[in-house]
Amino acid sequence: MIRTNGRACTGKRRHDTEEQAEEHRERLIAKGAVRLAAYRCRNRRCGGWHVGHTPKPRTTR
Ligand SMILES: [Zn+2]
Repeated sequence: MIRTNGRACTGKRRHDTEEQAEEHRERLIAKGAVRLAAYRCRNRRCGGWHVGHTPKPRTTR
């Protein structure tokens, strides 16, 4: 079992591009989900995009 630190991408949908992630996000929002954001995965091994709830309003990189 692989565990990653911080924002793990296990169990989350992975998208290859930001567009795909955005598309997925729109779909979830249409279902009633709010405050979702498409973000680039920090995991290098993943290298994809995920859609998740906007965590802390932190823009520091
Ligand atoms: Zn990931």
